[in-house]
Amino acid sequence: VLNTTEYLDMSVVNDRAVAAALPQLLTEWRMKKRWNTLSDETRSLHRDILQSYLQTGAPPNIEGLNADMIQDLCARDLIVMNDASIASAYPFSTAPTLHSVEINGVQVASVCAIDALGTGAMVGAASKVTSHCATCGMGISVEIANDGLTVLHSIPNAPRVWAGIVAISGCAATTQCQSMLMFCNQGHLDEWLNRAKDKPDGFNFSILHAVQAGAAIFRPFLAKTTG
Ligand SMILES: [Zn+2]
Repeated sequence: VLNTTEYLDMSVVNDRAVAAALPQLLTEWRMKKRWNTLSDETRSLHRDILQSYLQTGAPPNIEGLNADMIQDLCARDLIVMNDASIASAYPFSTAPTLHSVEINGVQVASVCAIDALGTGAMVGAASKVTSHCATCGMGISVEIANDGLTVLHSIPNAPRVWAGIVAISGCAATTQCQSMLMFCNQGHLDEWLNRAKDKPDGFNFSILHAVQAGAAIFRPFLAKTTG
């Protein structure tokens, strides 16, 4: 069993339910990352890719980037390639999704709801997350303070986040993240759960708790030290 401090920042989690849920979420996905075995050069490239999304909303052109390092980042599922371009680098997606985040004046598509909610804590800046209810499609917006942890405001006022536990085959973007959804209220999450063919296994988070989960996952991505 790996020490969770190698890939999660548990210092931002003050809720027991979130602390208990995190080890059950993203298990294999997380273990592949192994920050401590990533070379400094590859980690620096990973940072540059994330900074490109943050500054322009898009990934860098991979021409001129080191192919071995790109392959290493893919093998760890830190980035996902689509032919010769970067399709996603968690928490960011190149193509639009249901979820996005506005941070430092730039709008970036997010791979999933937890990714969008954890971006502010990763960067250390105020953010505004936009998503859509998985039941009715209504727009949901959440403003998070520059600590990345304080929810300032949300519309509607009590959205829920479903963090599903799924067996990951392939990359997180096509399995795990599709089970991370936002709902405009508890009733719409209940409707979705009741309609599901097999009873989904996962966690029903408030926005505050989903922000903590996202912060724990994504703060290590741009952290100065790997711990
Ligand atoms: Zn709804």
